[in-house]
Amino acid sequence: MAKKAYFIGNWKMNHGISGTKSYFERFLPEISKVDLSKKVVGIAPPFTSLAFARKLTEGSPVKLCAQNACFAEKGAYTGEVSPLMLKELGVEYVILGHSERRHIFGETNELIKKRVKGVYQAGLTPILCVGETLEERKLGNTFLVVSEQLKQGLSELEKVEEGRLIIAYEPVWAIGTGVNATPEQAEEVHFFLRDLLASMYGKDLAQTIPILYGGSVTPENIADLIKEPNVDGVLVGGASLDPEKFLKVVSVAI
Ligand code: PEP
Repeated sequence: MAKKAYFIGNWKMNHGISGTKSYFERFLPEISKVDLSKKVVGIAPPFTSLAFARKLTEGSPVKLCAQNACFAEKGAYTGEVSPLMLKELGVEYVILGHSERRHIFGETNELIKKRVKGVYQAGLTPILCVGETLEERKLGNTFLVVSEQLKQGLSELEKVEEGRLIIAYEPVWAIGTGVNATPEQAEEVHFFLRDLLASMYGKDLAQTIPILYGGSVTPENIADLIKEPNVDGVLVGGASLDPEKFLKVVSVAI
């Protein structure tokens, strides 16, 4: 099966019920006109909009994603959402280890690896985010940081089935800043991550694992980023909030 390019919109804490309704009223008629034979399109609304988004997107090509999930199936975990509950809603992909979870809410590799395992075991596909801060990059520690995040984040997944894992390289200095990594900077890290995945799961499987780039992706820079051989798609924050902008990103020629 030919590899598809992934376009995942992360709404973060934006678009409640009314925002979700007006978004999909504009997005869905247009996305059905885009050639998606080589693309996967997903949207990660906030938890409270998921059920409504599911209702609106049912029968459309849009895949439903979540922005986090608990490691446990159920129980005394106040404030958390179970992967099984997300599955019941029709969620297919779950973003884990996003830099805002790591840096604002203090999520550690230790916690993230448990979330990755729980999500995987529930039959959902984790999108594990890794990425260095500006300071770490300046100190020359980019590869060290992302390899630790990748190795630890996946340490409870001894085996991975094809199509059941996605990695997102999201340099922290590029998220929401308007300063994207250059295509060369992105490719350099993606190449490194692919190699690391090959050492963990074998070369053949590593080739099939999508590695997405995230960090100030826009309709203006998507064409250059997606051309890189190891950039298998994008995780889009700000530009996914506006349906017209996200449509332009998704419509890039590949
Ligand atoms: C993100 O939050 O995952 C992200 C990439 O944000 P932005 O596109 O706004 O930089």
